[in-house]
Amino acid sequence: MIVTKQKDIKSIENNLKDVERVFIVGCGECATVAHTGGEKEVEAMKVYLEGSGKKVVGTAIPESPCFELQVIRLIRENKEQLSLAEAVLVMACGLAVQNFKKFLEDKIILPACDTLFMGSISKNGRDFSQYCSACGQCVLDKTDAYCPITRCPKGMLNGPCGGVHDGKCEVDRSKDCVWTLIYKSLLKKDNVEKMKDIQPPRDYSVNVFPKTYSL
Ligand code: SF4
Ligand code: SF4
Repeated sequence: MIVTKQKDIKSIENNLKDVERVFIVGCGECATVAHTGGEKEVEAMKVYLEGSGKKVVGTAIPESPCFELQVIRLIRENKEQLSLAEAVLVMACGLAVQNFKKFLEDKIILPACDTLFMGSISKNGRDFSQYCSACGQCVLDKTDAYCPITRCPKGMLNGPCGGVHDGKCEVDRSKDCVWTLIYKSLLKKDNVEKMKDIQPPRDYSVNVFPKTYSL
């Protein structure tokens, strides 16, 4: 999922300082799981903004506003309310914000959240961890399924670096060095020799932004 965190309410208010009429959009998928743009959060935002003198002309929570078709449908179904809105406040990730920008060019489109990373959700549903940063050249087949690009602060393709101590990372001693995890995992499989396979430098030209991909 895409992990988001709600922006400070004062900064949202500041972005809306010259706006009277707002339409609020949430997200039924990731932002609902992250508690940043589900029903409860959209309602709380509506109450807050109304309390600070704004007119909330409508709210909607599409299933996945990162999907253009759902944004187009939402705009069609809320045409009247949106015609009254000066701004659309999007309580979801940056993909959703920019999808609304694409189809509502004449409105002020504002993010209510900071988009943090693509995260795995813990079993209690409250913790999110970045295990993959979508590098486009997956090396998990070479690292026993631990990602050194994301989980090593230096992105070491051949590790560990000299700073590892008692299996912990020199950049943050509270965290395991991912290369120690790789080593221990390979040890269990009696395959530590694999650590000696030197990985070639990555091709950073594939990471030129913005990335696109078509089926
Ligand atoms: S190497 Fe890491 S960042 Fe790259 S695709 Fe694989 S898991 Fe994601
Ligand atoms: S200690 Fe391990 S995780 Fe930390 S920077 Fe060095 S190789 Fe990377």
